[in-house]
Amino acid sequence: MERILIVDDSPLQAAQLKSILEKNYDITIAQTAEVGLRYASTETFSLILLDVVMPGMDGFTLLKKLQEEIVTQSIPVILITSLSDIENEQHGLVLGAVDYITKPFSPLIVEARVNTHIKLYNYRKQVEYQSMTDQLTGVANRRQHDHYSIIKWNEAVRLRVPFSICMFDIDFFKAFNDTFGHPAGDKVITSVAQTISSYLQRSTDFFARYGGEEFVAFILGGNSTKTFKHVTKIRKAVENLHIPHAPSVSEWVTISIGGVTLVPQSENAYPSYLKIADTMLYDAKKFGRNQVVWADEKMHQLLEKPATP
Ligand code: GH3
Ligand code: MG
Ligand code: MG
Repeated sequence: MERILIVDDSPLQAAQLKSILEKNYDITIAQTAEVGLRYASTETFSLILLDVVMPGMDGFTLLKKLQEEIVTQSIPVILITSLSDIENEQHGLVLGAVDYITKPFSPLIVEARVNTHIKLYNYRKQVEYQSMTDQLTGVANRRQHDHYSIIKWNEAVRLRVPFSICMFDIDFFKAFNDTFGHPAGDKVITSVAQTISSYLQRSTDFFARYGGEEFVAFILGGNSTKTFKHVTKIRKAVENLHIPHAPSVSEWVTISIGGVTLVPQSENAYPSYLKIADTMLYDAKKFGRNQVVWADEKMHQLLEKPATP
């Protein structure tokens, strides 16, 4: 059931709103703006019904705070108030409220407006999710990578933590498609994505399909030695799926991995290090595929296997 937060200092009015909405929604009531803010930032709601006149922090102030926080700014807020003059309505809408209902209200109108805004909210969420997700594999897509890489990179610059960028590419995949067909190839891309992703489950890890049969990840926190070991495990895990490859190529489907670890110093430098990861991947291909090649903090190459060009 969809959750709605009612922030209202009057228990009577909150109860009245609740009775209108509780058959279709899971209702939580906060009697002050402070408590409302805490609920909104720690729990998940699809809509907030907000009273304007309250002792202590008023509804306009709470609305402003909700709009400033990343976790709460996308929750739609409907203001409910007895202030019927046009200035307050203007003020609330300019601050970002999606709607404004004046007291005394008609239960049917409250219900209809709530239903509409919940529908719009869910639609927006769905569009956002789809635009950031790769349809075939269900993992993040290139667009999400482009978005998060900037945010995470700059965070690492501020916190001075090691940042690793990792590129993955399926070996001789063209031959796989040519032998088994495109639909079978799609299944392999999905299994490989799921396998890699299962090794990148920390909240600070990020993994995306970069395009075609290429994937990208960034991993925060570990030094090059530790991260190199971890991605070597990922490479082996893909090999151990034992997906038969085109007989002319190799026994199993494998991936090559290139990456780099550094403590980022300057903002906006992500693309140049992504390029280094890509160069390492190119070397992994050149040295015989099915292996990891890494650039450490001193930009020395770490090799998983002896080079066999
Ligand atoms: P390498 O080991 O050098 O990476 O060789 P490769 O054959 O994997 O590389 P190449 O870039 O020549 O070919 C990539 C192939 O991946 C070609 C393309 O048909 C296939 N591919 C890309 N995207 C998809 C997809 O979404 N589905 C399927 N089935 N195949 C795809
Ligand atoms: Mg390939
Ligand atoms: Mg490729």
